Amino acid sequence: MAQEPAAQRGRDDTAGSQLERKLQRLGLREPSDFVVHLPIRYEDETRIHSIGAALPGRTVQLEAEVLFSEVQLRPRRQLVAAISDGTGRMYLRWLHFYPNQRRQVEAGKRIRVRGEVRQGFNGPEIVHPRISKAGEPLPDALTPVYPTTDGVSQPVLRKRVQQALTQADLSESLPPELCHRLGLPPFAEAIRTLHAPPAGMSEQALLEREHPAWRRIKFDELLAQQLSLALARRRRRSQRAQPLVARDTELLKRLRDALPFPLTGAQERVIEEISADLARTFPMHRLLQGDVGSGKTVVAAFAAAQAVASGHQVAIMAPTEILAEQHFNKLSGWLVPLGVRIVWLTGSLTPKQRRQALESIAAGEADLVVGTQALIQDKVQFPRLGLVILDEQHRFGVAQRLELNRKGDRVEGEGEHCVPHQLNMSATPIPRTLAMTFFADLDVSLIDELPPGRSPVITKLVSEARREEVLALVHREVLAGRQAYWVCPLVEESEALQLQTAVDTQQWLVDAFPDMKVGLLHGRMTPAEKQQVMEGFRLGSVQLLVATTVIEVGVDVPNACLMVIEHAERFGLAQLHQLRGRVGRGSGQSVCVLLYQGPLSMVARERLRAMYETTDGFEIARRDLEQRGPGEFLGMRQSGQELLRYADLQSDSAIVEEAREAAAWMMQNHPDSVRKHLQRWMRGREDLLRS
Ligand code: ADP
Ligand code: MG
Repeated sequence: MAQEPAAQRGRDDTAGSQLERKLQRLGLREPSDFVVHLPIRYEDETRIHSIGAALPGRTVQLEAEVLFSEVQLRPRRQLVAAISDGTGRMYLRWLHFYPNQRRQVEAGKRIRVRGEVRQGFNGPEIVHPRISKAGEPLPDALTPVYPTTDGVSQPVLRKRVQQALTQADLSESLPPELCHRLGLPPFAEAIRTLHAPPAGMSEQALLEREHPAWRRIKFDELLAQQLSLALARRRRRSQRAQPLVARDTELLKRLRDALPFPLTGAQERVIEEISADLARTFPMHRLLQGDVGSGKTVVAAFAAAQAVASGHQVAIMAPTEILAEQHFNKLSGWLVPLGVRIVWLTGSLTPKQRRQALESIAAGEADLVVGTQALIQDKVQFPRLGLVILDEQHRFGVAQRLELNRKGDRVEGEGEHCVPHQLNMSATPIPRTLAMTFFADLDVSLIDELPPGRSPVITKLVSEARREEVLALVHREVLAGRQAYWVCPLVEESEALQLQTAVDTQQWLVDAFPDMKVGLLHGRMTPAEKQQVMEGFRLGSVQLLVATTVIEVGVDVPNACLMVIEHAERFGLAQLHQLRGRVGRGSGQSVCVLLYQGPLSMVARERLRAMYETTDGFEIARRDLEQRGPGEFLGMRQSGQELLRYADLQSDSAIVEEAREAAAWMMQNHPDSVRKHLQRWMRGREDLLRS
């Protein structure tokens, strides 16, 4: 929120505007927002229960006479009352109380009592019950309990929702035949039911969101998402891109011949898919998924070569300097001998180097530009940008991706406005339902095969207490001529502390292995220092590399066969999988040791178990999604908007399919309904509409 001038703030700080601000934080501005702010649960105040049938664990509403009440002093000061309705006796207990609460429960009074029953020392009791007057009329609908925030009470929300229901447009957004075909109740009916379910409606079905009214809402939400993605796709198809048809196929042939290995079947297939996309006149938006180590870089090289052979420039962007440099080295090795001109652009260039790089890009001399975020800075001008490749795309923010797209907007071809093709690469496999709902606009290519001769990494869980054994293992590996990583623990609270830990760990390992060259790599080193250390490790002069998570992404040193991760319980699942992916890249047997310190939380235990049980990136992603939910999984939590409020991708996957079909049908046949439906469900959430 923008900071307002102090004077104005003073004037506006009435209770009313404070409430409005809090409501806005819940996403509640217009009546139509309140209408789709749905209860998380209900309280049944429509009935009076009998004490005799009130079982522990149930929330009940009773009407009864107070038999006695007293302030007891032992074991601590508390107010205790007993009530009876003729079917049994119930105790009421307050551990702190006000004088007027004592008066409410004077002996002989008839009262209405609400609360959860539990088994007490003397029999059934309710702690801190809600007391009201007996004999008041009972509501005929269940009482909704809404998601809320500090300072917005349930009665306030209830009132505002009720108001909104009379003000907002509740008319049907779906074609009637669709509702009929899928057996969905009308929108207005579903909404009214959920805000005020009639007494006697199955609370279970409501709670588990299986009631038809809930099905309707979940369908609506998923449909809105599918529709917005379909629109994004349509928008993209109406854009123009330069078709990248290789004028000279010699380059691609020579690249293939220059590779030290044959491509896997999966690599061949995705190279084909990408090649066909690049030849089209609308921009490619393709997500290339492949587990860590599956060989995505070489696929990027083929895409780049095709673009260059068609006379265009290519930008490859990586999330870290180390990774960008590694790409630069690898791609240079393959492509420079074939006459491709490659430039390197990161934040760490000297001003002079930088100016030279920019000049050669702007003059169209550089065919291929490899770099970090520096690539999207304003000064960089590409006269012939045809293709943008993002490696580890999930590490880039949404804003950065859009920015990079805009770069290409300056490309003009025969007077037409063109945007570049885009290839996103990711080692975070996105489970099918998630891909279908959030990336439906991206075409997906999958490398589902690892290069031959790799044996899966063996993962060992080792308690901190057995650290010495791990040292012995490191020693053996290095004596055998192999290399190892030692990953330092995450220290969330403080970067300085994390750094210190890394330095200490290195010192400790130097002392433990006087005959070994132990390198150190962390985020605070200058790029030149990092480069030097990585170079030493690559060439084998450094045998043991102590590192923070800077090595998490993409680093590729095939001779490194052992990885030790300290305090593995502090890392997330995706992160552990990425880290482990740094080993198992050569033909030798690789081992990943997860050193942990107990006691483990439930979640940490599950994570380590997942790492131990599988090396399959898709399975890991599935479990990660299960643990963290889609928002965090996709790294979109910062948008402040939940991705889906009511539907759940796992349990509602059948509805996802229905919504997908319905979206295609509506786009074809009912454009007006599409507009209306999106207005209702996508207000203020335009950031989720990827294009
Ligand atoms: P990632 O998909 O994780 O980015 P890389 O592109 O870094 O994987 O490739 C991992 C390693 O496998 C690299 O050393 C690469 O040269 C090698 N590689 C890639 N494709 C093949 C292949 N078809 N056969 C053998 N090795 C390959
Ligand atoms: Mg990679």
